[in-house]
Amino acid sequence: MSSVPRQVDSIASFHAHVYFDSPERRRRAEQIRAWVAERFNVALGRWRDEPVGPHGGPMYQIAFGTELFPTLVPFLMLNHGGLSILIHPNTRNQRRDHLADALWIGRPLPVDGAGLPEDGPALEVGEINTAPASRS
Ligand code: ZN
Repeated sequence: MSSVPRQVDSIASFHAHVYFDSPERRRRAEQIRAWVAERFNVALGRWRDEPVGPHGGPMYQIAFGTELFPTLVPFLMLNHGGLSILIHPNTRNQRRDHLADALWIGRPLPVDGAGLPEDGPALEVGEINTAPASRS
């Protein structure tokens, strides 16, 4: 361990990965997606029905700015509907982001991070594709 702490501003953004593994769970994932889109300015990723990257099952990604962490993460804590959601930071070390520094809402699932880079550009949020009309 280094003698100085890692700096929080090395986190460029966060991802939430919402997993679903049955038609019923997919419907819950659709509800969560709609609720998030109605309330938060985020970049919603495509539905992934096959494993992709380090993710071992169907899921979609929510990319969000660090300023949304205190509102979006508690929202997901209270509304995950029994689904597993992986929250990870995006720094220059993607392997560590996914395997060591992440948190789970619901039941943790396996993540295969062996192929992830340990140094590279930290992912930004990307294009915001939600337009919340009002918050409630
Ligand atoms: Zn991610």
